[in-house]
Amino acid sequence: MPTARPTSITCANCGAPVTVNPLGRLPRHCSASCRVAFSLRRKHQRPSARDEQRRVIWDVLIDAGIVARDQPLPPMRKAEDTP
Ligand SMILES: [Zn+2]
Repeated sequence: MPTARPTSITCANCGAPVTVNPLGRLPRHCSASCRVAFSLRRKHQRPSARDEQRRVIWDVLIDAGIVARDQPLPPMRKAEDTP
């Protein structure tokens, strides 16, 4: 059963009310600047590819029994620490 199309929504970035046109895609933001700001904020909240890779490797080490399950992921070493 289709739900009724809303006549207005709140902006996902600033919470301002946004009028919805009767046709077309539902808007998620009140303006282009809010769309970009929302996208940038979400991008910077995601873990980096390097952090995600470290977490996956750590999970493999835990599954292999090499490190204890309750041992936290060690902090990143700095470049000057490596020989
Ligand atoms: Zn907005």
